[in-house]
Amino acid sequence: MWVSILGCSGGIGPGNRTTSILIDDDILLDAGSGVGDLQLQQMCKVKHIFISHSHLDHIAFLPFLVDSIFSQIEEPIQVYGLPETIDALKKHVFNWVIWPDFSELPNKDRPVMAFNVIQPNQSIKIKKRTIQAVAVDHVVPGLGYIVTNEAGRTFAFSGDTATNDSLWEALNNLPSLDTLMIESGFPNSHEALGKLAKHYTPNTLAKDLCKLKHKPHLLISHLKPGMEIMISEQLHKVLNGYQLTCIKSGDSINID
Ligand SMILES: [Zn+2]
Ligand SMILES: [Zn+2]
Repeated sequence: MWVSILGCSGGIGPGNRTTSILIDDDILLDAGSGVGDLQLQQMCKVKHIFISHSHLDHIAFLPFLVDSIFSQIEEPIQVYGLPETIDALKKHVFNWVIWPDFSELPNKDRPVMAFNVIQPNQSIKIKKRTIQAVAVDHVVPGLGYIVTNEAGRTFAFSGDTATNDSLWEALNNLPSLDTLMIESGFPNSHEALGKLAKHYTPNTLAKDLCKLKHKPHLLISHLKPGMEIMISEQLHKVLNGYQLTCIKSGDSINID
């Protein structure tokens, strides 16, 4: 199973793309600005998009993706999210004001995009991979996703979250966990802001990681631009027993 990090930054700027992860060549987790680096033929291979939550940095390029492949695909792209996420996409993005409603285009019977509601703990099997939704705690309703391949190897993605129990409980229920992509959006000095905006800091993440019985490779994402070095140093200090990588757009990992 290939995991390609198209975007994982907490902002924009040279080399920075917002959250989007390509699993093999057909599944996206989130559709932030990282999607803009895909070639047209790569975009056409994407069949399923799992959205973690409705924030703009996780959905910004979904409208452009659907528009770009509009005349190229035969089957609708399946978009999954919590009911609140799907409602937000319909009401605030695909509302004919910000962007056309591609779930009705070119016609309602055969649209280019279809919305699917997914609930926490629900699993969806796509070819030989299973994607399980997991509740997290963010300022809007949010999900993380656990992707398991046929060999039982597992990649988990936290989405945006602050301290919670649901993610760790779901991860502890797995027989094993190879790789965990988890956010640490702010440095320790911004802990109050982290609490308000519901993002981890190195200290709050380290505290929550004590709940985890596995010892996965940690891929740290969502670092605020300009604070990457500070956050990375703090993480290495508090998580020194872990294999830990502050990832960047363009990184890819083979999990087999
Ligand atoms: Zn968010
Ligand atoms: Zn975010």
